[in-house]
Amino acid sequence: MKPSTTPSPIAGATPEENWVHQREKMLLAPFAMFSAQSRGRQHLEAEHPYRGPFQRDRDRILHSSAYRRLSGKMQVFTGEMGDYHRTRLTHTQEVATIARTIGRSLCLNEDLIEALALMHDIGHPPYGHAGEDALNECVQDEGGFSHNQFALTIANELEVRFKDFPGLNLTQEVLAGQTCRIDKNAAGQRPLLEVQLVDAADSTTYDAHDTDDALKLGLVTIEQMSKLAMIQESIHYVRRNYTALDEDFMRQAIVHRLIERQVTSLISHCAGQLKDFQFESYADAMSSSFVIEHADELAQQKTELEAFLYQKVYRHPALITIRQQAQGRLKEMFAQYCQKPELFPPKYQLRAKEIGIPRMAVEYLAGMTDRFCEDAYREMFDKA
Ligand code: MG
Repeated sequence: MKPSTTPSPIAGATPEENWVHQREKMLLAPFAMFSAQSRGRQHLEAEHPYRGPFQRDRDRILHSSAYRRLSGKMQVFTGEMGDYHRTRLTHTQEVATIARTIGRSLCLNEDLIEALALMHDIGHPPYGHAGEDALNECVQDEGGFSHNQFALTIANELEVRFKDFPGLNLTQEVLAGQTCRIDKNAAGQRPLLEVQLVDAADSTTYDAHDTDDALKLGLVTIEQMSKLAMIQESIHYVRRNYTALDEDFMRQAIVHRLIERQVTSLISHCAGQLKDFQFESYADAMSSSFVIEHADELAQQKTELEAFLYQKVYRHPALITIRQQAQGRLKEMFAQYCQKPELFPPKYQLRAKEIGIPRMAVEYLAGMTDRFCEDAYREMFDKA
């Protein structure tokens, strides 16, 4: 679709002529966060001739080293368990695409949604939540460790992109969105709708792909899961629409239905309410009682599914063992780095002086991929 007047995608265009702003005026609902309304960046930068501020944020995150390392970090299942299942990177990509689909349907700002989604897990340490718990214990007396907080440290302090200052110089909206992940009520009002949406897309995504991975790995069976209302509905749907399914196809069809149903339901539930509320700006939406969330019935079914995944999958004996071994490795390495800070690569020595050795040890470990961590552990303790 082309705007009625043809804005020029060149530097120096006035806000009225700006292509990105014109495009958003045509496509976004009044309650979306518009690029023109951004509170900007800590360090002033000229506007880009054809990319809006949130597109630039997305690209900065996509090109960061922390983002690339997500490919070597586990989501739930480790590399030893095969190569079918999700990594932290493919999880992130699934969240981004699902969130954009919902965002486009609700006429929210897709560029902001994508930036938030790509950023949401960049602070994850090796070994998923098990790794996070171990690192948190290591610096319990110094404020602990959280992957959501560490994502901000990466974005503001650790990534190198500009000569004159550290970090990625992201917009206030993306940084505030990530801050909400640490404490939803920190700002004293609801987050932007785009931020709420990415949160909803995150759970939509992992409920579906953890089901898929757990079935594929044989940790649970369709039979076992068929007692759950969410899965039961999917099975009925698949059986109504297909015949003579082999096990692999059945699993995939169930998972596709899980995603499709959650996404469709979220869009229709939210679109209906947004129509009634008639918000005229993003600020109206933030100060209202409206929340992007699933309708009650589906929310209850998701809670039931998540409780099952927690008990039968995340706490599966095969994963508990891997989890304990990984936590042990991280704790041993933490102790060793604290004792011998000369083991940090030279470029980390300066930061160790600024933030202290224990925090530096945790940051260094948190940046590692699962494989790098295992190699570093073997080298450190001279294990074959
Ligand atoms: Mg996530």
